Amino acid sequence: MAVEATHDHQAVGVAIVGGGPTGLFAGLLLHRLGVSVCVLDAKPRSLELGRADALNARTQQYFEVAKILEDLLPLGLKCSTSSTFGNGEFKSRQNKWWVSLEHTLHKNFLMLGQPVIEKLLSSELGDLVHYGEQVVSIYEHDESVDIITSSGRRVRSRYVVGADGARSAVRKHMGVTFTGTKPEMVWAVLDTFIDTDFPVCPEIITFEIDSQSRVSWIPRERGLSRFYVLLDGEVTQERAQESIKRHMTPHRVEFQRTEWYSTFEVKERVASCFISKDGSGRIILAGDAAHVHSVNGGQGLNTGIADAFGLAWRLAAVVNVPSSLRADAAGKLLLSYDIERRGTAQGVVDVAAALVRDTVHEAKQYVGTIEKNAVSDHLYDRAHIAGGYHIAKNNKNNTIIDQRPN
Ligand SMILES: Cc1cc2nc3c(=O)[nH]c(=O)nc-3n(C[C@H](O)[C@H](O)[C@H](O)COP(=O)(O)OP(=O)(O)OC[C@H]3O[C@@H](n4cnc5c(N)ncnc54)[C@H](O)[C@@H]3O)c2cc1C
Repeated sequence: MAVEATHDHQAVGVAIVGGGPTGLFAGLLLHRLGVSVCVLDAKPRSLELGRADALNARTQQYFEVAKILEDLLPLGLKCSTSSTFGNGEFKSRQNKWWVSLEHTLHKNFLMLGQPVIEKLLSSELGDLVHYGEQVVSIYEHDESVDIITSSGRRVRSRYVVGADGARSAVRKHMGVTFTGTKPEMVWAVLDTFIDTDFPVCPEIITFEIDSQSRVSWIPRERGLSRFYVLLDGEVTQERAQESIKRHMTPHRVEFQRTEWYSTFEVKERVASCFISKDGSGRIILAGDAAHVHSVNGGQGLNTGIADAFGLAWRLAAVVNVPSSLRADAAGKLLLSYDIERRGTAQGVVDVAAALVRDTVHEAKQYVGTIEKNAVSDHLYDRAHIAGGYHIAKNNKNNTIIDQRPN
């Protein structure tokens, strides 16, 4: 059933609340699959600085499918090794966790800031993205959902994707719980240009002093450096820069221009259900709106992109070809998204939690945790639609949905 536009409502198949990486990628995939979409974002324009910094192997494959990877590759920096330095001396270098990755074409991180990704996705969507539109009201009906923004824009859609970030108003509207742990850790993050006599090469470097690794240096596009710094006591840019200098001693470091400084407090939470009405509704969460965790391991943006991929094909199947689905199949197909992605989110939270707690241990242990989990298969959920058969399997090869035509 199509929803009808009225004199004051725009009508689309899927309305997306939130134009971060998750909402934009979901919008782009749905648009490519022939679903009418609109993306509503509260901020005035696409992100300009900071936040996520790396595309993992799987995200690069998803972007390849969406035909946008070729635009990003020349802009980013490939990175597949990490080193540890302790008390001013080189200790170890490893790349086993990348070269041993299975089922991937790109065995490296592509270091590239979130603003570049958002800008590209937004430009691909063109006038389907509306900035300065904060969603303030949502009304879910049996056959449609109405949303209203702060500017008075009204959109009626068959489904809504809530990709409005960690403080999601959509999630609050759904009334699902968002519980978890908060390990009382605040990190400083800097995007900065430095002048140094440290032997620079494009790899992730973890610095250790007295068997604690509290500074990580991530190489970035344009010669930019991303630093993560864990401090005791007050967290300020000045103290973070002092800590970086101390960890890189005996090498000289001058901070030339800091483009972005921020802090983030680690929280580990997963929404109790990703779909409204206990799994039977029309509002579906994705990305940070559905799960948050430490940024260690670089999984925030990447997990949101995988959510968008897992959701878009299912929503397109439901919106585009409802007659080919048995009456209850649409609900089951969407429910399989909740089962698949909620399980993955919990796995990501667990890995990021282990990484963030390893930080105050030796760098070798930290890298060991990355290595152990980089090849684990919890991210490898599989699903496909073929010849009218809708079958999804989880990583244990158990069928989580098997919906065949009558
Ligand atoms: C300070 C900070 C630093 C970070 N650093 C890193 C990092 O170093 N590495 C890393 O991997 N990840 C990092 N992250 C996490 C990463 O940025 C997120 O995981 C990623 O952005 C998730 O994408 P998303 O699209 O799900 O949500 P978001 O990017 O949060 O996008 C949500 C969007 O929804 C919009 N929105 C919110 N409410 C409404 C509303 N009511 N109506 C309409 N629009 C709305 C917002 O404007 C925003 O554009 C950081 C996050 C923060 C906040």
